[in-house]
Amino acid sequence: MPAPRPGRVVIAEPEIRARIATLGAEIARGYAGEPPVLVGVLQGAFVFMADLVRAMPIDLATDFVRIESYGGGRTSSGRVRLAADLATPIEGRDVLVVEDIVDTGRTLAALRRTLEARRPRSLRVCALCDKVERRQVDVRLDWVGFTIPNVFVVGYGLDDAGLYRNLPDVVALEGGSAARRVIGP
Ligand code: 5GP
Repeated sequence: MPAPRPGRVVIAEPEIRARIATLGAEIARGYAGEPPVLVGVLQGAFVFMADLVRAMPIDLATDFVRIESYGGGRTSSGRVRLAADLATPIEGRDVLVVEDIVDTGRTLAALRRTLEARRPRSLRVCALCDKVERRQVDVRLDWVGFTIPNVFVVGYGLDDAGLYRNLPDVVALEGGSAARRVIGP
């Protein structure tokens, strides 16, 4: 039995599959030299990362970070701590950060500063979803899967309070996230 859908489908599985095939080929063309290190941001990006690497027909390495961000509820503060750091030294390497969603841009901006300090040869970013209308911090995204409206989404790796990551589609959560409902806007 599939998990119940908590709301309307925003991006359906076949659409995600088709977009990632295109994106993977495009990104691979951007890395003609040394194998890049793809840095997945846990937990939200794990499903996207798994599909993206299989759409990239080049040599590459993978690693992950887990980010803890401070601040109230779902609003990121821009202060982040690496709850789990890379095992791979990235100095002199071509790094591609693989993110689930860029919302205000604060998390990514902070992660970028942390990774830049390690002096990679290049640092580029691929995000599955971009909530461009919510942006507060100017962050450069080199590749974007989908631009989505300002709705709280779950599925395809994205959660609400730890649930719904296993849904195959990206789905709008009716009523917003549980955290938002408890804590307020
Ligand atoms: P930002 O720092 O850009 O405001 O927030 C980015 C992070 O907030 C994402 O990596 C993700 O973890 C979380 N986030 C933002 N929007 C959503 C959403 O619609 N659904 C889920 N599940 N997480 C979101």
